[in-house]
Order: sequence, then structure tokens, then C-alpha cells
Amino acid sequence: MIPKINYQIHEILTDLFLPPFKKKKDFDKESKKFIQHFKKIEKEVLTSIEKFSGFRWSKRTIPVYIIPQNKSITSLTKSNLNKGFPGVVQKVYENIERCTHIFIHELTHVNQFQSDFYSKKNLFVFNKRGVKNTRKIELCSDVVCVQVIRDLFGNKSIYEKDYWIFQNKIRTSSPGIEKEIPIYLKKWDLNEKTLREYILKSA
Ligand SMILES: [Zn+2]
Repeated sequence: MIPKINYQIHEILTDLFLPPFKKKKDFDKESKKFIQHFKKIEKEVLTSIEKFSGFRWSKRTIPVYIIPQNKSITSLTKSNLNKGFPGVVQKVYENIERCTHIFIHELTHVNQFQSDFYSKKNLFVFNKRGVKNTRKIELCSDVVCVQVIRDLFGNKSIYEKDYWIFQNKIRTSSPGIEKEIPIYLKKWDLNEKTLREYILKSA
């Protein structure tokens, strides 16, 4: 089952995060443009995430709250965003390529929450005492994200170009991860085996 994305814009969130220099009508325009753009590729993206991760989608819908670009928070995924459904709070950038690859990254986190990614069989993410390593969770997301971008848009697309600019210059979470991602892209060939097969014990 491939879930449907439920895009939502809440007035209170818009007011909360709209920066003072930004006009509401510009945010409306950007968010509409992004939603229209993503609706066209949504099914392919979600299918491709499952294909490379090997983690199965299990819920029918993904709630997504669209908010303006702001400096207070990063785009993020919550395991229970709305009524038990994992979902995404997604910032909308003027740069649609950036918005797209960040959203794909967040959707890989949703895929983790909808599946058995967080099972204790995942010895890549959990140590022997069952403590989870958030940086390794990020690596899993990033490797799948790059594969999905290449699958959908080909090698060296504008999306991948901006992805690396973002990783090298703009990403503030997980410092230095931009150097680790290429190492794991070589280590895990997701066209050969799924991420799940690489990281889950007895998968
Ligand atoms: Zn992440």
C-alpha cells in the first residue's frame, strides 16, 4: 500500500512562523506551487522510497503541515503528528529544488516510523544496550534520499546539485554528515540490496 499525502496549511502555524519581511500572499503562492509540483511526483517518490529502503509503508495517509521558511525550526518529522499518524512539518522555500529534496528526506523518516525500522533488530541504529544513535538514523535517511533523487531525476539533476549545496553549506543538524553520506552510498548499493537487508539482523 502506498500512502496518500494529506497537505495542510493552518492559519495559526502560518502566522506563527511567517517572518516579518515576508508577505502572506507570497507564502500562499509558494506553498501552492510546491504542493502542485509534489502531487505530480508523490506516488513515484513514495514507491521509490520503499523500493530502496525495503521498509514497508503501513498507513494509508501521511499528514503534512506546510509552514513558511523561518529560522526558528528546521523541517521535521514526528512519529505521531496527527491521531497516531507519523507526519511532516515542512518549510516551503522559494527554491523548489531545495524544498523537494528536503521533503523527500523527511518522507524517508516517515517510512521509518511506518515500518519495523525502529525494531531492536536494527543493530545499525541501536547499540547492544538498546540506545539509538540519531546520526545513524540520519545516514539511513540520506542514503535512501539520494537514491530516490537519482531514480526519479537521473544522475546529476538540479535536485541532487542543490542537495549537495545544502549538505555542505546550509544544513545545521548533524555537522560533518556530508562527508559520511558518500561513504555509505558506496558501502550500501541499494540497487543490489535494500537498506533493510543491509542493516536489519536476519532481515
Ligand atoms: Zn533527518
